[in-house]
Amino acid sequence: MTSESNIAVGIDLGTTYTAVAYIDDTGRPVTLVNAEGDLVTPSVVLFEGQHAVVGKEALKALSTEADHVAQCAKRELGERVFHKVLEGRQFPPEALEAFVLNKVRQDASRHIGDFRQVVITVPAYFDEVRRKATQDAGYMAGFDVLDIINEPTAAAIAHGFIKGYLNRDGASNELRRLLVYDLGGGTFDVTVMEINAHDFVALATDGDVQLGGQDWDMRLVDYVAEEFKKTYDLDPREEPNTAGRLWRECEDAKRTLSARGKVSISCDYKSQAMRVEITREKFEELTHDLLDRTKFTTKQTLQAAGLTWKDVDYVLLVGGSTRMPMVSRMLRELTGKDPDASVSVDEAVAHGAALHASIILARLRGESPVINVRNVNSHSLGVVASDPRTMRRRNAILIPRNTTLPVTAKRVFRTQKENQKSILVQIVEGESASPEDCSQIGKCVVRNLPAQLPAQTPIDVRFAYQDNGRLTVHVSVAGTSRELKHEIARDNSISQEQLDAWRLFITGHQLADAQLQADDDDTATIDEL
Ligand code: ADP
Ligand code: MG
Repeated sequence: MTSESNIAVGIDLGTTYTAVAYIDDTGRPVTLVNAEGDLVTPSVVLFEGQHAVVGKEALKALSTEADHVAQCAKRELGERVFHKVLEGRQFPPEALEAFVLNKVRQDASRHIGDFRQVVITVPAYFDEVRRKATQDAGYMAGFDVLDIINEPTAAAIAHGFIKGYLNRDGASNELRRLLVYDLGGGTFDVTVMEINAHDFVALATDGDVQLGGQDWDMRLVDYVAEEFKKTYDLDPREEPNTAGRLWRECEDAKRTLSARGKVSISCDYKSQAMRVEITREKFEELTHDLLDRTKFTTKQTLQAAGLTWKDVDYVLLVGGSTRMPMVSRMLRELTGKDPDASVSVDEAVAHGAALHASIILARLRGESPVINVRNVNSHSLGVVASDPRTMRRRNAILIPRNTTLPVTAKRVFRTQKENQKSILVQIVEGESASPEDCSQIGKCVVRNLPAQLPAQTPIDVRFAYQDNGRLTVHVSVAGTSRELKHEIARDNSISQEQLDAWRLFITGHQLADAQLQADDDDTATIDEL
């Protein structure tokens, strides 16, 4: 380790915007501006031949070179490849995220020198697979990822810092409960947190990985496009660059509508042009169902935490989309409280991540922690097992959702037949009893079971789930002293070799084409369950 390891850096790797913060000499979180001088960097990548351009330039290119631009890769983490082919190549979504991280790493090091260790944030609702993919993206960008932390938890830490709870003697003796409402560009997250002296505990969390400001944008795009069609019988959405330009116009108009009562949006396509005027009222009417979805989830999360609105002290606003007046209004009506935006909605998450990084670094230096963070898991985790009565495969849950982490959970299964040689532990995440409706995390196979095991021999399966949502699996067979700790063979993840090749490629822009193709799944399975 070098001296650089003392800089605490946090990165809010957002679906649409990324922010980086560090802890300055006085112990305060400070956002680092990028090379363009902005506090946030669009999480957008433009490919120009072998060269990747990230940020504002790439966002602009959506109007002219849409075919070469990747955006919202975060939404596709967990998939094997990004939906769009770029420069004739299929990229894993985590590699596209790594290009973004690499750009912010380079920009930040202009201010604070080289650094490697970072904390990266993820939506609380992210499942295990997406968390792993985020860590991999950090690795590919040349980082040593100290931890991943949930975005709402990070926001709560930043809030706690402002309120003075993070000072050694500033801990509040009263219990404080916050509801963090985070509406960003591509995801919605809501979490109920409790701050009890120095303990930050998440009580319940929920969200929607397919809901964000862009859905609001698209309502405007569709509205304008339909008006255009009515007039000219032409659909501007059918041509990618025109659609890109129209989306940028609409996104801009949406921002204006947060400050003003009306705006006009221009659209031109195939030598026809028109301006469409839209009022804030109309905009709110076009999008109220989206807001209702967030309201519904918010109510459910409060219920899951076992609380009523009286029990909540603060409603924290996070994410650029909470600037829309309709959001505060809805929350005020729902909660009876004035929402709190005392930490900037764009910076809160990065600030909290940097504070978390400084706490980890202090712990690594042997200092006692100033605060403790405890999370809950957002999805139930289980294994696929056959029901002995019906012989149907079902999801046997080991860790129900909203369990406080870290946790270890054990469940006993049985071998199916005599002299069974191996068992397959297939791990799924989700609430449904039917494994097909759950997300497949991966599997591990226990081979070389002791000879002559009778049928129905108990097998203990133990899950150890860390605070950051990463999982390890232990399997032990009754009557043997062997305890098998298993790495999970993940269905959609990238091998270490490929990660290294990407790391070299992205951080050094060295061409290693031969190694960039994703391998076919070569996981061997032996299924004797
Ligand atoms: P993410 O974390 O998902 O990347 P952010 O929290 O950075 O997202 O929020 C980005 C979203 O916020 C975008 O959809 C953007 O259009 C929206 N946004 C930013 N400023 C405003 C504003 N003034 N009014 C309405 N929406 C805004
Ligand atoms: Mg965000």
